[in-house]
Amino acid sequence: MIEPPDAELLSAYLRINELKNYAYCPRISFYTLCLGIDRETGLSRMGIEAEAETKVRMKRRKHALHTVVEGRRHFDVTVFSHTYRIVGRLDEVVETADGLYLIDYKDTDRDYGYWKLQMVAYRMCLDEAPAQAVLGCYIYSIPTQQYHEVRLTRRDVDKLSLALTELHAMVESELCPPPVQQIGKCRVCQYARFCNDVF
Ligand code: SF4
Repeated sequence: MIEPPDAELLSAYLRINELKNYAYCPRISFYTLCLGIDRETGLSRMGIEAEAETKVRMKRRKHALHTVVEGRRHFDVTVFSHTYRIVGRLDEVVETADGLYLIDYKDTDRDYGYWKLQMVAYRMCLDEAPAQAVLGCYIYSIPTQQYHEVRLTRRDVDKLSLALTELHAMVESELCPPPVQQIGKCRVCQYARFCNDVF
C-alpha cells in the first residue's frame, strides 16, 4: 500500500512514538534522543506485550471496525512524512474503495495527552502519500476493547508542527529543556534521578 523509501533516510527522521515522551515532558525526549538513555520500564514492557497479543487477536477478527464492513486490513504499516521528517508504524490501516481508516492500538483507556498528537502525525504522513484519502482515525483501547473516534482540526496540526519544530531544534542544538511545570509528573518519572534541579 505504501512503499517506504530507503532505511538510511528514515533513520534520520523522528519517530512518531517519541511524541508520547515529549507530551509528558520534553526533557525525556532530550534524554532519549540526545543522550541515548532509554529507560524501559516494566509498565512499558507490559504495554508492548499487550499490543502484540492484541494484534494476533485482531488479525483473527473478520472486521476491524464496527463501522467498516468491506475493507482490506494492513497491520504494522510504516508511514513517513518528508515534510515533517517523521516516521512511524501504524498498528492497522483499513483500505476501502473510498479511502483509508487509521487505527492506533493503546494499552490504556486513558489519554495522557498524546493520543491526538500521534494520530495527527500518522494522518499527516498518509495525507502526503498520494491517491488515497483518509476517511477516519480511531484509537482502539485494549483494556476496554472499544474504538474511540479521533477528530482532527487545524489546531491539532499546528500543535504537531510546534512539537516537531521544538524536537528537531532540540536534537540539533543538544540543549536540555527546562523541567516540566507539574511536579507530580516528576514524582513518578523513571528519569527523575537524572534531574538534579527538580527535587
Ligand atoms: S523528573 Fe520531571 S523534569 Fe525530569 S524528565 Fe522527569 S518529568 Fe521531566
